[in-house]
Amino acid sequence: MSLPADFQFSQSSLQDYVDCPRRFQLRYVQQLAWPAIRAEPPLESERYLQQGSLFHRLVHQHMVGLPAAQLSRQAIGEELSRWWRNYLEYGPSGLPQTRYAEVLLSAPLGGYRLAARYDLIAVEAGERAVIVDWKTLRQRPRRAWLAGRLQTRVYPYLLVRAGREFNGGREFMPEQVEMLYWFTEFPAAPERFVYSAARYQEDERYLLGLVGEIAGLEATVFPLTADERRCRFCHYRSLCRRGEKAGPLDEAGEAEDEEFGLTFDLEQIAEVEY
Ligand code: SF4
Repeated sequence: MSLPADFQFSQSSLQDYVDCPRRFQLRYVQQLAWPAIRAEPPLESERYLQQGSLFHRLVHQHMVGLPAAQLSRQAIGEELSRWWRNYLEYGPSGLPQTRYAEVLLSAPLGGYRLAARYDLIAVEAGERAVIVDWKTLRQRPRRAWLAGRLQTRVYPYLLVRAGREFNGGREFMPEQVEMLYWFTEFPAAPERFVYSAARYQEDERYLLGLVGEIAGLEATVFPLTADERRCRFCHYRSLCRRGEKAGPLDEAGEAEDEEFGLTFDLEQIAEVEY
């Protein structure tokens, strides 16, 4: 099965491929909508998703200059109001002053494009850039788990490749870039990853290898993951005959990020291209 020539990879689609090639194929190549809930109870998982989406919107509005007092009136509901308070009181400190929120970047990669949407890039031009990602996970992920996520590799890599517009027309050096995960439920325990030239080269090799591997797959049906725990929170369970019933939301744990993270429409990726 060949990919369309204009196919765009993202950290989400690459993560799906690494987790389960079949999920990647169903979701991104065949774009198959499958009517199944992701987690039980469905209304609670839907409500949680909406809270996460509202939080991202509030922070975005704050970053573009709306006053906190005005936005606080919209932070209603137990979780959202707590997250918002945590953000106002314990949000990331020491960030560079120039802020770009909800930025879309893309660059060519292995004959296709790689694209990403950033929650926030804080920049001191010529000096440094901090990528901030807001996470509304119920459990604090382990550093080792975060380090292995495609997001931790793709975001800094792509900022170096395609972020010169934020740095006076010059590419950021990898050492000038850092990635910060900030957790709404654990505001005092953010996680930082400092980038490096060695890491950049390693990521480039890895991402090119991954894209080449996917593009070269000829199977009509991509392999199903051998780790059936992944299927518990996957829309395609019944299609793959991996069970009918969704896993409980409170057991999703680190899987939450895979399945409950905000997604974005790849067709939106046109703003900043390299
Ligand atoms: S149900 Fe399991 S095998 Fe099927 S796409 Fe989802 S994760 Fe992959």
